[in-house]
Amino acid sequence: MQSFTSLSRFVARSTRAVTALALSAGLALGSTGAAHAQSVPIVRDAEIEALVRDYARPILKAAGLANSNINIVLVNDPAFNAFVAGRRMFINTGALMTAETPNEIIGVIAHEAGHIAGGHQERLRDQLARAQTMAIVAALLGAGAMVAGAATDTSGLGAAGAGIVAGGSEMARRGLLGYQRSEETTADRSAITYLNATGQSAQGMLKTFQRFQTALSLSGARVDPYQVSHPMPRERIANLETLARESAFFDKKDSEALQQRHDMMRVKIAAYTQGQAAASRLLRGTDGLASRYGDAQSTYLFGDLRSALTKTDALIKSQPKNAYFHELRGDILMKSNKPAAAAEAYSTAVRLDTAKSGILPIALGQTYLAMGTPDALKKAVVEIRKGLDRDRENASGYRYLAQAYGMLGDVADADLATADGHYYSGAYQDAKIFAMRAQMKLQRGSPGWVRAQDIINYKAPSKKKK
Ligand SMILES: [Zn+2]
Repeated sequence: MQSFTSLSRFVARSTRAVTALALSAGLALGSTGAAHAQSVPIVRDAEIEALVRDYARPILKAAGLANSNINIVLVNDPAFNAFVAGRRMFINTGALMTAETPNEIIGVIAHEAGHIAGGHQERLRDQLARAQTMAIVAALLGAGAMVAGAATDTSGLGAAGAGIVAGGSEMARRGLLGYQRSEETTADRSAITYLNATGQSAQGMLKTFQRFQTALSLSGARVDPYQVSHPMPRERIANLETLARESAFFDKKDSEALQQRHDMMRVKIAAYTQGQAAASRLLRGTDGLASRYGDAQSTYLFGDLRSALTKTDALIKSQPKNAYFHELRGDILMKSNKPAAAAEAYSTAVRLDTAKSGILPIALGQTYLAMGTPDALKKAVVEIRKGLDRDRENASGYRYLAQAYGMLGDVADADLATADGHYYSGAYQDAKIFAMRAQMKLQRGSPGWVRAQDIINYKAPSKKKK
């Protein structure tokens, strides 16, 4: 846990309220207050984002969502969960690390895509609007009722009050659960359709759902958030299995190349979020390259940098065109205080990255920032801007950009970049202050001035959803 702060590129805590009414068609539980906006710890990683997008692309296309700008967001959470909120599909790192095959995650994505395509979230919101008070909504999510019970003392009046609240919410809960079940069935059917359309098996989805059913029946008390948000009665799984087995693609396996990328993702998440031991535990049974990748990551994070570099160079020899091996090389060299050499490695990564992640040019820009000469700082601005063009909401990218402008003595652009950084972190008041400062130095009507004006004019959404 404590190591997260030093891993800022892999794990960036989003202070922006990802305004999810967390009660989406699939939902993030784990906290009681469903109705207010929550801050979700977001993970940014070029390799994992590219892989998950590769998983999702054909499915979203089959769901008719190819042009809907569905944004996939990785959440740093060890629980197995995925949920949708608006145009965003959230997937926990815990789900990615637990799933043994790409097909299991693709199945989850297909199911969530079924919720999006079906407009379930919007309709659920309407249902919730009918639930009269937020207190009832909180009670629907479980903890509320218990808290109410615990908070009241044993005096008759208090207990009676709690009983009434619990009774009312129980009725609402049953209504909502019934409604939710029918949506789950619809999402399952849609998922099967998308999987068939893309020539993929539903075995992974089935396996995921069976895993929850078993976990629940074995432990009794242990409830996984995915289980709670996607109620899975036995007949639902039986129906799913029938449909899955009817498909000509039931026995279709993921390609070896995809499985290898999946394994590499799993060991990476294990190394970063759970440490060396977890990574090595996971390495057992994975193919040679993934296992060596995990070893190199662990050595970089927990061991000595020289040895990590040797291991990474060997990986590059095996797969010279793997952008993320070069990225790791850059990470190691940066940590070794060799920004010039790191710049070379990141440049190669940027060049090889067919997914065109914004994260890599920003990493490259940081190396130029570390070099600090006027020439290097100008390159830093170019690279970071390139990254931000690809990844407009990357708040930390703006902070590096502001730093580069500041060191170049360009105060107006530094202030504007700082304003953008605050804006994309959700700190709108600070954003406005810096936007106004920037405007005083910018030419009226220039692109920078206009951007500052947009920030000044921005009205933050209220915390509570209507
Ligand atoms: Zn669902």
